[in-house]
Amino acid sequence: MNKRNRYQTKNRAYTSGRMIAVKGAVLHSYGCPQPDPKILAERWDSAGASACVHAHIGRDEVIVTLPCEENTGKAARGWHSGSGSKGSANNTHLSAEMTEPATIKYAGGSSWIELGDGSNTKAHVLATYKNAVDLYAAWCCRHGLDPLADGVILSHREAHARGIASNHGDVEHIWLRFGLSMDQFRRDVKAAMQGGSVDFGGDVAVTDTSGQQINPMEGIVTIIYTGEDGLNLRKAPAYTAAVAAVAKEGDKYAVTGISADERWYRLDSGLYVSAVPSYVSFKATEAQKESTAGTGYYRVRTAWDKPASQIGAFKAQENAVELCHQNSGYRVYDPDGKEIYPCTDTPALPVLVSVRIDDLRIRKGPGTTYDYHKKAGKPVHTGKGQFTIVRVSDGPGAKQWGLLKAYQENEDGWISLDDDYVSIKA
Ligand SMILES: [Zn+2]
Repeated sequence: MNKRNRYQTKNRAYTSGRMIAVKGAVLHSYGCPQPDPKILAERWDSAGASACVHAHIGRDEVIVTLPCEENTGKAARGWHSGSGSKGSANNTHLSAEMTEPATIKYAGGSSWIELGDGSNTKAHVLATYKNAVDLYAAWCCRHGLDPLADGVILSHREAHARGIASNHGDVEHIWLRFGLSMDQFRRDVKAAMQGGSVDFGGDVAVTDTSGQQINPMEGIVTIIYTGEDGLNLRKAPAYTAAVAAVAKEGDKYAVTGISADERWYRLDSGLYVSAVPSYVSFKATEAQKESTAGTGYYRVRTAWDKPASQIGAFKAQENAVELCHQNSGYRVYDPDGKEIYPCTDTPALPVLVSVRIDDLRIRKGPGTTYDYHKKAGKPVHTGKGQFTIVRVSDGPGAKQWGLLKAYQENEDGWISLDDDYVSIKA
């Protein structure tokens, strides 16, 4: 790990001088395709910044931005997790943000699509993973922490589930597709503390899922992955399984089943190929469409009354949504035929909206999980009138959230865009 210090001496997290007793560390990921750790490390070094982490993790370097390694058990207090129903991890945990590859694009909330052939995204995610392992191992050694103990190392998402962070999907939203998990991370940190190292010479070290159940599924899969390395056909439905052959772009195979985690297709040869929609395109047979017509499947079609247009059916909603991202003009229907994605068309921004109620609250982030602005203890409202929205975001508690222009600089003034309160001006 190539690590250097660049303290954010202008950020209020630094100038306030507040310290915490270190109980653990939360791991974050940017949530935007910015691969260079210097960009946000510099932007956040300002008195107006509303976030400050202890470190930014790049592919080639780690930049430590708040004092956190000078004294055992003590560190400057960062701003990274917001707060949840039970308080804030900012009071107990260190934090680092992993950068994200430039070859991805966000498609609402924490879902993203691959823009390239997948190789740069994978290389970036694995390199930042490795640097994160080394950094968190160094922190655990410095502060006498056991990475495997309950609640010590958490992702932002896990911290939210424990009620000590705002509602975000990082880091799992990006790791999942590479077979990485927080459990694996904690084990790798422990191994690194004991002198081990993470070896990414080949494929990622991941949990062995070879033994999982295969459910029947019939169709044709076409390889769309364009990387020169090709797509591996494996002997079992797991990244840990041996590679038996390599498929190239345009190759077609008959599918006989799908793994229980819906990440692998079983081919008629008995080998397995990844089911990631940015690597393969699946077309169901007519018989398959019939058999998934029952309950329990999320279907991807151009319209509910056009079953012939169906390009996929999944037990897991997220898999259906991901396939939908890859194919414009398609929609996701729940098992009852209700359209669930895309739920709204994103307006062209900036957009003028009309607020029709007096008491619409202004929240510090896109979701009811964020606190609202207050003046003398009372909520601040927009009041009725017209307002400019400069960004929209998914978030809990509303079908969509809009960032008010007046709060653009710190990105901390969001209103619900629900039809009950707000209409978008044409
Ligand atoms: Zn986060």
